[in-house]
Amino acid sequence: MTGLFAAALVSAGVFPAPPLEYREPVPVDHPSGIPVLCYHHVGSSAVPYGVSPYRLRGDLEALYENGFYLVTPRDLENRLMQVPRDRRPVMITFDDGWEDHCRFLPGTGELDPLCALGVVEGFLDEHPDFGGGVTFFVSWDKTPFGEDTGEKLNLILDLGHEVGNHSLSHAQFQLISEDGWRRQINGALDRFAKYLGMRTGEVRALAYPGGQPPRGGAFRGFMAGLTWRRRPSVTSAFVVDGKVTGFSRVLDGGPERFHIGRIDMSLYSVGHLLQWSNLMVAGTGRTGIRSPLPWRP
Ligand SMILES: [Zn+2]
Repeated sequence: MTGLFAAALVSAGVFPAPPLEYREPVPVDHPSGIPVLCYHHVGSSAVPYGVSPYRLRGDLEALYENGFYLVTPRDLENRLMQVPRDRRPVMITFDDGWEDHCRFLPGTGELDPLCALGVVEGFLDEHPDFGGGVTFFVSWDKTPFGEDTGEKLNLILDLGHEVGNHSLSHAQFQLISEDGWRRQINGALDRFAKYLGMRTGEVRALAYPGGQPPRGGAFRGFMAGLTWRRRPSVTSAFVVDGKVTGFSRVLDGGPERFHIGRIDMSLYSVGHLLQWSNLMVAGTGRTGIRSPLPWRP
C-alpha cells in the first residue's frame, strides 16, 4: 500500500489510523519468505484493528486461489514437510484471545459461524486441501474468549489449530526486565496449564504484546534458553512489523526464529501482499519449498 493510498483510507474511516511506529513494508533481500498475517478483532471493521468476518472469508479465498497453504508455528519445527511442492506456505494468526475469535451460539453450544474460528472452519470444510490450521495467540489480561476458556482452548487444539502465548498481562516487553519477560511468558504457561494440562506443551509460539520485541539483540538468546517444566518455553516468536521474513531465517533453528515478521491485516489486504516482490516472481519454474510461487495474474 502506498502512503497516499493508506492515508486516504484512514481519512475515509475505512481503516483505523496506524500506530506511529508502523512502517511501510520493505521487501527483504531473501528470494522468498513466509507471510504471517496478523488479525485482531473479527467483527466490525469500525473497531480499531478490526476486520469483518466477510473480509476474513474473502482473504482466505484469495490466499487459497493464489496457491497458498496454511501452516502454523509448529510446522516450522518440522521444516514445513507437509507443504505440497506447488503451494506456498502462509500463516494466519489472531491476537489477544477476544470473544469474537471463538464464540458459541447462545443456547445451542454450537460454534458461531461468524466468529474467527467459525469462518476458518467453514472455509476448511469446503477446501480441505488448504492445509494445517491457524494460530490463536492468547493473553491473560482478561478472560480469554470471554467465557468457557478451557472448552474453547481445547476445541481449537482438537480441530488441529494452534494456541500461542501472548503473555500474562500484555505488558510491553520493551518496558520490562528479563525477569519480567520470564514472568510474562512462564506465568501465562501456568495459566494455560490450568485448562490444558499436558497439552500446554503444544503452546510454544510467542507473539510479543504490542507487536514489539525487546530492544537490542540479547532477547534472542534469552528466549532460546528459557524453560518451563524442563522444556523450552518458546520455540518461535513473532513481531508485527509489516515484513515477510525469509525462509532461511526461520527454518534453520537459529536466533532469528525469535523475530519473525507479521503483517497487520487491518492495514494491508491480500491484494497488496500479492504484489510484494519477494512473494511472487515472474516465471513458472518452482523447484522446492523455498522457491517463490509463480505469478498468477
Ligand atoms: Zn495483543
